[in-house]
Amino acid sequence: MINSSLPPAKETSTNNVALVLPETISTSRHRFFRNVPESSWKDWKWQFRNRITSLEQLVRLISLSAEEQAHISSVIRRYPLSITPYYLSLVNPDDPDDPIRKQAVPCIQEISMRSLGFEDPLAEKENSVVPGLVHRYPDRALIVLTDICPVLCRHCNRKREWRHGAWTRTVAEIEAMLDYLRRHDEVRDVIISGGDPLTLSTAKLEAIISRIRAIKHIEIIRIGSRFPAVLPQRIDADLCDMLSKYGPIWLNTHFNHPNEVTPEAAVACDCILRAGVPVNNQAVLLRGINDSVATQTRLCHALLKAKVRPYYLFQCDEVQGTEHLRTPVETGIKIIQGMRGHTSGLAVPNFAIDLVDGGGKVTLQPDYVLSMRKADLLLKNYEGKVFRYRNPNPQSRTVATSAVSGVVDNLTADGIVK
Ligand SMILES: *Cc1c(COP(=O)(O)O)cnc(C)c1O
Ligand code: SF4
Repeated sequence: MINSSLPPAKETSTNNVALVLPETISTSRHRFFRNVPESSWKDWKWQFRNRITSLEQLVRLISLSAEEQAHISSVIRRYPLSITPYYLSLVNPDDPDDPIRKQAVPCIQEISMRSLGFEDPLAEKENSVVPGLVHRYPDRALIVLTDICPVLCRHCNRKREWRHGAWTRTVAEIEAMLDYLRRHDEVRDVIISGGDPLTLSTAKLEAIISRIRAIKHIEIIRIGSRFPAVLPQRIDADLCDMLSKYGPIWLNTHFNHPNEVTPEAAVACDCILRAGVPVNNQAVLLRGINDSVATQTRLCHALLKAKVRPYYLFQCDEVQGTEHLRTPVETGIKIIQGMRGHTSGLAVPNFAIDLVDGGGKVTLQPDYVLSMRKADLLLKNYEGKVFRYRNPNPQSRTVATSAVSGVVDNLTADGIVK
């Protein structure tokens, strides 16, 4: 059964440390949802049932000009709207550039710039070996259980699916996917994705996870879910108890802005971690939302405080209807350059591009190597200082006196000899 709320000071059964919810936890909601009883607000099914999916509902909650209303009504015919009351409560109604609002409220560029990009840039359809299963890399497979998500992110790379209405895999389809996994013993890592797999009931998820766990060659199971950021109430004791039985499980979540790392979200991540499930974050780099060193640093610091490890920062895919949110690739590299060395290494994600046509992920780094020779390398540190680094040569018995490591002081920061 669904445990709809986490009462204050309740002990989770996986651990004997009390999980205390701060009293102030959901004050932000009162602006929009003053009359909702606390028990409903904390009930994920209430949040899910009361998603904002029409223009009429949205106008009552945030101010929208007549033009914006006209735009939204035409966009949502192609790309539907869905926002949980919780996620909408994080929007600052006075800020038209609010980072939460921009991720969830449709805008006209979704259709006016639609000629740019592809429907399915990652060619997931073509790469599906059985419906819903993508086996692109040698040792890991991705399974898509549903296209339902509590919040429809405007930058989603599976936007094409939204028009087909809400679906979840049938029992037969799931059986076919399990069958494929059983027959392919090179697969040691299974990623359960969507849509959002946590839209399935805990019982249904358990039925699938337990059967994946029963496959001997599957070492780890990963769950990809944005629930911790958009509907953290879903992460209840029932779910965490269930997950704790089938480890090693890893959860990859999707926070894009520090404003999303609320006390509720932190409690949700804590609950998952206490179930023995490490939580990693996969953010998407979005123009005007999180495309600065300062915002990414604040996001990653907030995540580390919630014990969530920043794993990937993705370049926004070439998806139709997302062009207005895409940044030049240099922006991502500059962000990593502005973080690496300047803050905890744990806070620095891997900046990656997911290539079109199923080419897979490629990580991009600022270039710290000025030259690389057999004898030595010239390396630039985070401050732009240049260092010589002696490259070990297993064949050589003597070391030339010039081949020692150290600061190179006749070079400028650009690596140009003075
Ligand atoms: C991203 C992805 C994975 C996992 O990639 P990692 O780099 O291991 O996190 C696996 N399969 C598909 C199809 C993917 O898109
Ligand atoms: S949670 Fe992920 S799959 Fe769902 S709408 Fe957002 S980006 Fe798309």
